[in-house]
Amino acid sequence: MTQTNYTDKVTRVAIIANGKYQSKRVASKLFSILKDDNDFYLSKKNPDIVITIGGDGMLLSAFHMYEKELDTVRFVGIHTGHLGFYTDYRDYEVDQLIENLRADNGQSAAYPILKVTIYLENGKVIKARALNEATIRRIEKTMVADVIINKVPFERFRGDGMLIATPTGSTAYNKSLGGSVLHPTIEALQLTEISSLNNRVYRALGSSVIIPKKDKIEIIPKRLGTYTLSVDNKTFHYKNVTKVDYSIDHHKIHFVASERHTSFWERVKDAFIGESDS
Ligand code: NAP
Ligand code: MN
Repeated sequence: MTQTNYTDKVTRVAIIANGKYQSKRVASKLFSILKDDNDFYLSKKNPDIVITIGGDGMLLSAFHMYEKELDTVRFVGIHTGHLGFYTDYRDYEVDQLIENLRADNGQSAAYPILKVTIYLENGKVIKARALNEATIRRIEKTMVADVIINKVPFERFRGDGMLIATPTGSTAYNKSLGGSVLHPTIEALQLTEISSLNNRVYRALGSSVIIPKKDKIEIIPKRLGTYTLSVDNKTFHYKNVTKVDYSIDHHKIHFVASERHTSFWERVKDAFIGESDS
């Protein structure tokens, strides 16, 4: 037989919960069920499946905990609250989750992530990965930066900063800035402005752009000073940034794909529209 039989193998499971009372309760329930089950082995080291309990923010944190193991780890999220973008289960659906994990055949839903490379004047190079987005901003003064898309010098941007979102991150900060919502099966990045200056003298595109998989975005700050760079929920301050590159990473994030893995449009509707009048 050539097909891998996943049911023969013990699944290594990591449970990661945030500090909320409700999350801790769900975590201890899951823990007590799984610890005596021969199909599962609870371990935060080299897990096959990472179960996060909390919100989308908790899944973002778990992504960064395991970002070096993306090819071997699959994620599944339990939301203590409303349905989230990265979470398939509600807190009262623990039994259903365990049932689905037992029936699991190793299938995954994979989505693109963003690779960020920061070059500093002193020669230092910093690499990071984002699940939602990365931003570059200049706080004290207007940011002036050249934007290069796929080697084409595209524009000299002036404004607060710029954001580069993944498809699954398009519903987060990107959307607040007026960016589009992008279906995660579209392997593309979105470059969105943060308050661009537009007048007779200064010209930026003014709308967000969708960049295909093979194209690299380069941002070259034109003024010395401190820049604020964010990657998902983390923020860094760097002096004298010479260039930042953004492209789609060759790794993806994998989610456990059960029947339960919610349609993206359901999530968007649930989060932003709710029940519509008939
Ligand atoms: P936070 O400030 O606690 O959470 C920001 C909110 O964004 C939470 O309600 C979170 O959902 C939600 N969220 C996270 N990822 C999302 C996604 N892919 N689609 C839709 N909503 C999403 O910070 P955090 O929980 O650590 O999350 C960091 C994220 O906050 C950043 O990646 C950025 O996207 C977002 N953010 C947004 C703004 C803005 O909209 N003006 C400004 C800064 C940062 P949960 O409640 O389920 O965790
Ligand atoms: Mn949060």
